[in-house]
Amino acid sequence: MKTIGLLGGMSWQSTVHYYRIINEEVAARLGGLHSAKILLSSIEFAEMEELQHSGRWQEAGDILGREAAGLRKAGADFLVICTNTMHKVAGQVEEASGLPVLHIADATAGAIKRAGKTKIGLLGTRYTMEQDFYRTRLIEKHGLQVFIPAPADREMVNRVIYDELCRGIVRPESKREYLRVMRQLADDGAEGIILGCTEIEMLVSAADFHLPLYPTTYLHAIAAVDRALE
Ligand code: GLU
Repeated sequence: MKTIGLLGGMSWQSTVHYYRIINEEVAARLGGLHSAKILLSSIEFAEMEELQHSGRWQEAGDILGREAAGLRKAGADFLVICTNTMHKVAGQVEEASGLPVLHIADATAGAIKRAGKTKIGLLGTRYTMEQDFYRTRLIEKHGLQVFIPAPADREMVNRVIYDELCRGIVRPESKREYLRVMRQLADDGAEGIILGCTEIEMLVSAADFHLPLYPTTYLHAIAAVDRALE
């Protein structure tokens, strides 16, 4: 079994789910007392959010690169960056550590393509929804058509992530707003919705919506187990 290096803490609210899902999946596949080999580097999220907010991505990537190099030294075989947003610096992390990053957008796109879908709605932080590093990968590498919410709705989706979900706050009124935006994406033509922020699974789940959902924490964690047991 390979050792999984988790770059987590972004936020820790979702990293705990990675830890649980990965271990549950290994136990389900191997049985008995089996569990995953995991090394975790948990980042101070306030520092990271400040760097994101002020556009200092190079510095943010330097921090993750240093942590990733430490995970390699400690014995990690590959890396899982436990946030969609910080995949903006995935290349920098690979370079600094010499370890491959299991890309969250690839794990997610794999599930979408297996389901035979090509038109997909994307919810996430404003960086994930608006910038090229994530959407372009879905479009160019995986041939998906990606729909994002209108500007005011992107603002709301982003605010709920940082002001509520990353602090462990789950509000029914925010869930209603998310479902409204998801219905709009479906009306635009989406055949399913990517929950493209690792905390959104705390707010909405498959039972809440009439179209398939692609929860990135779950899909990424399962892909990590696939890789670890290869
Ligand atoms: N966990 C979130 C994501 O998947 C947002 C927090 C962050 O900015 O890293 O994008």
